[in-house]
This record gives sequence, C-alpha cells and structure tokens, in this order.
Amino acid sequence: MEKTKHTGPIKLPKKPDPSLWVSKVPFGLGKIKPHHIRDTMKVVWENKDNLPYATRILTKGVCDGCALGVQGLHDQTLAGPHICTTRLNVLRLNTMKAMKPDILHADIDELRNMSSTELRKLGRIPYPLIRRPGERKFKRISWDEAMDTIADKIKSIDPKQYAFYLTSRGITNESYYVAAKVSRFLGTNNIDNASRICHSPSKTALTRSVGIGASSCNYLDWIGTDVLVFWGSVAANNQPVSTKYMYAAKRKGTKIIMINPYYEPSMDKYWVPSVPESALFGTKIADDVYQVNIGGDIAFMHGVMKHWFEMEEKEHGSAIDHSFVLEHVNGFEELREKVTAYDWAQLERTSGLSKERIGELAEILAKSTSGVFVWSMGLTQHRFGTDNISQVANLALLRGFLGRKHCGLMPIRGHSGVQGSGEMGADPFSLPGGAINEEGRKRVEEVWGFDIPEWQGDIVGVSLENALLPEEHERKLKLYYMSGGNFLETMPDPDFVKDCLENVDIRVHQDIIFNTSTFVDAKEAVIVLPAMTRYEQPGGGTSTSTERMVYFSPEIKGPRIGEARSEWEIYVDLAKRVKQEDSYLIDFKDAYAVRDEIALAAPNYNGIQHLKESGDLFQWGGAWLCEGGICPTADGKGNLIAVELPERRKPEGHFYVTTRRGKQFNSMIYGEKDPFNDADRYDVLMNKEDGKTHEIKEGDAIVVYNKYGSFNGRAKFVPIKSGNVEVHWPEGNPLIPKGVYEQFAGIPEYNTAVIVEKAETYYAQKDTKYVEKRVEELEMEIS
Ligand code: SF4
Repeated sequence: MEKTKHTGPIKLPKKPDPSLWVSKVPFGLGKIKPHHIRDTMKVVWENKDNLPYATRILTKGVCDGCALGVQGLHDQTLAGPHICTTRLNVLRLNTMKAMKPDILHADIDELRNMSSTELRKLGRIPYPLIRRPGERKFKRISWDEAMDTIADKIKSIDPKQYAFYLTSRGITNESYYVAAKVSRFLGTNNIDNASRICHSPSKTALTRSVGIGASSCNYLDWIGTDVLVFWGSVAANNQPVSTKYMYAAKRKGTKIIMINPYYEPSMDKYWVPSVPESALFGTKIADDVYQVNIGGDIAFMHGVMKHWFEMEEKEHGSAIDHSFVLEHVNGFEELREKVTAYDWAQLERTSGLSKERIGELAEILAKSTSGVFVWSMGLTQHRFGTDNISQVANLALLRGFLGRKHCGLMPIRGHSGVQGSGEMGADPFSLPGGAINEEGRKRVEEVWGFDIPEWQGDIVGVSLENALLPEEHERKLKLYYMSGGNFLETMPDPDFVKDCLENVDIRVHQDIIFNTSTFVDAKEAVIVLPAMTRYEQPGGGTSTSTERMVYFSPEIKGPRIGEARSEWEIYVDLAKRVKQEDSYLIDFKDAYAVRDEIALAAPNYNGIQHLKESGDLFQWGGAWLCEGGICPTADGKGNLIAVELPERRKPEGHFYVTTRRGKQFNSMIYGEKDPFNDADRYDVLMNKEDGKTHEIKEGDAIVVYNKYGSFNGRAKFVPIKSGNVEVHWPEGNPLIPKGVYEQFAGIPEYNTAVIVEKAETYYAQKDTKYVEKRVEELEMEIS
C-alpha cells in the first residue's frame, strides 16, 4: 500500500458550460430549492454575540460536521472555498454561552416538554450535574463528587456490567483513542460508537471482500471517472459540498448515476453556492436514476452481474475484466454459479426494476473503463447490510475498478468521527490499528503495558438491551457512560429504549448540551458532565475524513465554558480514580502525548505525532488502498462473495417503509421543511399511483402502522418507487422493530413492512379488534 500520494487540490474550469444548467432563469426563481444566502445570514445573526470566535473556528478549525473533511475553508480536492450550511448550523454549538441556572435547574417535566431542537438552543452545560430518583431538578456537584460517584460504582460491579458509548459528531481521534484504552484498562470490552448504527456494515464488508476498512479512493477520483454511482446515498443533502465535486466531475464528462427508491431532488439538480454559474443557473447532477425497491439492491446487483455473464457468453471480455479477475480475485466461479441460478423474474420482482433497465446499467458499467461506487445508509441500514456492500465490491472487482486512478469503493461518512472512532479502537471488535485478534491484542498490549480483556464486548444495541436483564446476570448493564448521543432519537423503538435507559443504576451523559435522553430517570443517578468542543481542547485534536485524511484542528482562542474539560482528560481522570495503583499506565501529559502513542498503537496513523499546526494533515494508506489490485488480504486477492437474495418480507398490498433525512444533520433537525421537496416532518412520501389504489389523496391525513407502532402523517405524492414509502428520521422510528441486527456488523434494521391507511378509516374502525386483526394478519404474512 501507499505507493501513490494524493496530488492535492485541482482547479475548476473558468468558462461556464450551459449544457449543465438547470434553467436560464437565475437563482432558480420559482423552483423549490434551498436559499443558501438567506440561511447563511441566519447563522451570522445566531452567532452575532461571538462573531470573531465563530470566524476563527471557520477559518482555522477542522469542520465538525460531516466527514467530507475540510480544514479552515479549504479542502484537498478543489481549489476555492469549502463551506456549507450544515457546518454553519453546527457552528452555534461551539459559540453558545452556558445555560442559565434557571433553565439548568428547571423542573424535570418542564425540560422533558422540550424537543431536542429547543434543548440545543438553550446553551452549553456549564458544570457537572446529578439527579437521583425522586428529585425534580438537576443539582450542581463538583467534578470530584461526580467522578468519585462513577468510579465507586465501577469498582463495585463486574466489568461486563458497564459500557461506554461515543457519538460520532465533533469527537476527536484523541478522545476515541483514550476512551478505547481506558475501557480496556478498567477491564471492559463494552465500548461502541455511533458508526454501529450508520456505517458498520461498510467496514465489515470491505474487510471480508478486499481487506480494508475504509474508502479505497479519494474525492479526486470522482472527477473524470467514467461513471460515478451513488447507491443509497443522498450526498447532496448529507455532505453538501460533495455537489461541488459532482459539478467538477460533470465538467470532466463523468456520468453520474443515482440508485435510490426516491428520485431525490437534491441529487437531480443543485445550485452549488460557491460555483458562480451553478449558483446562478443550477447544475443538472444525475444523468440517470434507477428507482429500486427498498431492500432490492442485492437483486439489482445480481441482475447487473447476470447481464454481464450473458454478455460474456456472446463475447468473451465484453463485460468482465478477466485479466484483473485472474490476477487479483478469488471466488469467480462460485459467484457466477450463484448469480446465474437466479431467474430474471425473481430479480425483477425483488429489485423493482425490469430486466431491460437492469441491463442498461450493466451496459454502462461494462463500457466504462473506470468507475467509483459511493454508498451510504440506503445500503448499510438493513439486516443484510454487509451483503449489500459486498455486492458493490463484487461489481468493482469484476470490472477491475479498484486500486487505481478514478476507481474505487467509497462509504461516504455522515459524521466527522465515523472513520476515526473504530480506527482508534472505540469499538467492541477493534483495537487501535485493527481488529481484535491474537496479533492485534499482542501488538496493542505491548504499547499499553497491560492485558486487554479477552471476552467479546457488546454492540450498543445489545448493551442497551442488557439493562433489562435480571439483576444477578453477569451482563446486566448497571452503568452506561455516554459521550454524546441520543438513543431515544436514533435507535428503533423509542419506548423500549426509554425502558432500557431507565433500568441502569447510573447513566453518565458527557456532552456539551442537553438532549431528550438526558432527562430519562435512572435507578440511582443520572450524572451530566460538561465536555469541551474540539476547538477548546488544549493541544488541539484530529479527525479522519471519509478519504482517510487525518486533519489537525488546533485549539482556538475564544471564550470558554468554565468547568468544561477535554473529553480524553475526563476518561483518564476516571481511570485513575478506579485503579489508582496502576494510574501511571494510563497517564498522558497532554494531547501531543496522546498522538505520540496513537502513532505507536495504530501503525496506519504513523504521522499523526507530527500534526501540530493549523493546516497539518496526512492521508493514511496513500491515494489508493489496494493499489494495483493488491489487497491486504491473506493472499493479496479480493474475494468475490456469493450473497443470497434476501427475503422480502412484504405481503401484497402492504408497503415497505424506510427513513430519510430532511433539513437536518443526522438527528439534529434544522428546519421543519425540507427545502428540496417542500416536505414537512410529518409528510409521508408516497407514489401517486399507490395513493389512487388506496383512495388516498395528496394532503390526506394517513396512518402508517405495523405491529411495532404507528405514525400519523399526511400523504405527499413524490416520485418514489411504487410499494415503498418514506418517513422522516427520527420521527418514523416507532415503526422500526427493536432487536433486529445485521448478523455480521450488528447494525439495527431500519426498514420494515407497514400498512398505510387514511386516518379516517383507521380511526373510524379503531376498535381494538380491527387493529389487532390487521396486525395479526401482517404478522402471519411476514413471519
Ligand atoms: S460538506 Fe461536510 S465537511 Fe464540508 S463544510 Fe459541510 S459539513 Fe463540513
């Protein structure tokens, strides 16, 4: 690995290209689209009390939004400014003042009545707090009291009875690393992070298919590749500046394909604010859109490969890159057998696409000499997420789209910490630098100087469920230590999650703000610890982007929240209080010392120790992983995986539901209306024809329900694949079953079958029998 280095940013062409314009009418007047200038002014207004600090964060810091990666206002892909409204929206979290005491110590029910959006605006947590059973308000405590209470509890229980969780937003590699080390130092492997619920199958599948756990290529590879495929990814919404890269790609003749149940408007046309011609006239993004059924991707990809094998029968070499396959790939015959055994009718029915349409994509890919596949939660958040991603890898391996310019596999990350958290070992299956296996454990134990527990730690969903185990069970969760995160709004079945949160003895919320989970009771105490943002941490911090760039974000001068502390320092403090006698093993002088040790413990991160100034960065692994087709697997070859077609559990007349993001950044909602399609948070996106069949008109009040829960919304007709509906996340989470995890990566299933009915019908007949009967019917049909 690491033969070729990233070549750095390139320039956009100066002359406009009217053939890409959406319309000659400037600024998309009359069209439904975001208003970037208005949104920017709103953010300036919000930050008016702290504008110089806000400006320093934007110009010197590394973005704490998505994992596209940007240092200051510049990135490594394109010359010119890089900024988006997501970053501007998140900015306020860093510049807010502390919450006022009357809010901080308000009656708990008053706080419970607020939404996460309202809570986010209240301000930062200024000092440690505690609330015990029966108490109506949070009480101020000292850091010593707080940490001693947590440490005493940890000392009194088995290491399998406590767990750590770290979110993916804003947290630095240094904090992930120290948390990973501290949890093992204390004796527990129960540590997990937010990538478990977004991208864990990407890492699992890429490891088994090609031996890597990260994107194999760069955003630069998008620009000029023959074909750029977005599979279950709405990058225009979730990683907004990616649209500038898409614009650059279009200017180089790249064909952009979107595969999604919904014809996402933001991936169809976009007004890129930092590109004058695009800001004025818009840019047509997707050249073609394949509207696949929710959960129909494996069938679609089988269809593409089946078409290729049929092409090969007519003309050898017309679809498969045989020299690449021969030299670099295992499992060709097994895959061919599996794929050709499926009949077209089955693949068409499951994917929702005709043989002809599937063939069109197959031909495009077969004729392309280069290609980049980008995916996101549309592929990962399924009970067969790992198979979904291995299917994408199968396509790339058969076409030789790996390990060279303009080619690769890219799980695009939605949070700045998704890539780094696992690589730093804050994960029950990983240690810094790799998987937990004999070799990995030995390597890291040598650096750490203590033994790493050998039992398998639990994933976040299982840790939560463990809170409901009997008191004497060896894995009964008694203390949950969370760095950020809001399970009530991210995990399926919020009522169940609340039960779990209430059933731990002590819950620790280490955070910068309150969220709705903070107010759930606990059996002994809820403890809230004020954390610093990444820009406040003495000695700065690093984060790793989707394309494996490790960026240094310096400490930025500005106002501080009196008692807030660096997250990694809090973990060290805890470790020392629990095991005072061994505290020398867990001490770090400063953030530089943490980075020095990361370089030793995680060989890929050798180089992190030299990052000291604003603008310092490096890319681990070089420009392309698997360069020249040589994969870091046991035999150096990629593995084609013959995956099974998943069973579609949708009875006739029912719908598949999935969740989508509107004007929000992950679970943080920034607007009630999605500016791309005008949908509000309670609109149910459905196909017009399905509406007709069910006698539902646009705007009708409807109920979406199943045996897990119900969702009251309004019908909004959009171009979505018939038989599929989409609701916003997290509002739609009550429909999603609890405890269904993907078998390899442990991601929860976020899709399910539902009944859609007009509200008047549902409520007119809502005697228990009626609902029970329908739900029983559904249970029988899908079980
Ligand atoms: S696209 Fe992502 S990395 Fe870039 S500014 Fe926006 S949130 Fe930050």
